[in-house]
Amino acid sequence: MEAYLDHAASTPTRPEAIEAMLPFLRDQWGNPTGVHARARAARKAVDESREVVAALLGCSPGEVVFTSGGTEADDLAISGVLDARGGTPVCTAVEHHAVLDPVQWRGGEAVAVDGSATVDLVALAAVLDERQRAGFPASVVSVMLANNEVGTIQPLADVAAVVRRHAPDAALHTDAVQAAAWCNLGVTAGEADLVSISAHKFGGPKGVGALAVRGDVALSPRLLGGGQERGRRSGTHNVAGIVGMAAAARLILGERDEQVPRVAALRDRLEAGLVDGVDGVVATLASADPAPLRLPSICHVCIEGIDSESLLFLADRDGVAASAASSCASGATEASHVLAAMGVPARLASGALRLSLGWNTDDAAVDHALAVLPGAIERLRRLEAPPVPSPPPTSEVAT
Ligand code: PLP
Repeated sequence: MEAYLDHAASTPTRPEAIEAMLPFLRDQWGNPTGVHARARAARKAVDESREVVAALLGCSPGEVVFTSGGTEADDLAISGVLDARGGTPVCTAVEHHAVLDPVQWRGGEAVAVDGSATVDLVALAAVLDERQRAGFPASVVSVMLANNEVGTIQPLADVAAVVRRHAPDAALHTDAVQAAAWCNLGVTAGEADLVSISAHKFGGPKGVGALAVRGDVALSPRLLGGGQERGRRSGTHNVAGIVGMAAAARLILGERDEQVPRVAALRDRLEAGLVDGVDGVVATLASADPAPLRLPSICHVCIEGIDSESLLFLADRDGVAASAASSCASGATEASHVLAAMGVPARLASGALRLSLGWNTDDAAVDHALAVLPGAIERLRRLEAPPVPSPPPTSEVAT
């Protein structure tokens, strides 16, 4: 039995997406910029896909820029605005590194969050005011729609109101990579000028994503060359990838209303099973007051007295694929900047476990995880507990 509970890292590719891609890998290999029949077939597929991806993003087809994934979309949004307009970037302390790193690299600033990973709007306003006063005004503000580690959904309409008031010339970007499968982006990210998504987080293939560029946001390209994507992102289109992303997006648009409550119920059962069934397991967002809006798909717990990496190893051996949420390219787990920003004590953060569910997670997967994880936690605690000293020999005790 396998319980794949790492959808936030990458979702299983939808069979429909694979089927949709195959003709463009096998027969329709034309370059969409050409004029002959094969090129025209490829272009038609890209154009049709653009319409579906625009519907997912809640923008018009002409506002979609296809990219190589979420990282490139985030970089194009932040660096593209800075290159076009100057100024400085601002983000939150809980962004994915695809946002955090370009913001820090370009002299930007990360705004504090509260214990639920929700951005502190007062702190955001103060940072924007201070930048304005100091002569380094913010030209792009990036606030993720949903956090990839703990699943908190940010109040983006409130964020937009603060940005419009305290940095009226700044573009608002949101990284909706984790949210796209679960949130109607036309509504929840409707106030953002720039919205990033990545296909492999919602059932599409890896290596393809998109940035919505709404209205007339000034954006310099990061890749120069053939002038594809209206000059905003040069490079021959990944036709099969774009078609696969659109096939997955079509499924999301059709199924989301049913999937959100279904997956949330599984997540709640998983979380309750761990918290109620094992001592010293804390649901990371449980004590947040007020409780934040959450993705239905992420169960994040902190487990006392164990180390995440050892638990992931034991869980994997017994067929449970999970994550400690924060990992670097080497595969080693690094300390979570998200939990640190939320103020989670190091003693708990070192036992962090993210179980992320998705389109094909079922009751059997939850049952299997609940059958495996409590035993693995107990075993680790026994191993990590200090040895009990042996009693003195009884024969020498005077009576
Ligand atoms: N942003 C968030 C919130 C993510 O979770 C990820 C991937 O984990 C990315 C960006 C990067 O996306 P990609 O893997 O498509 O580069």
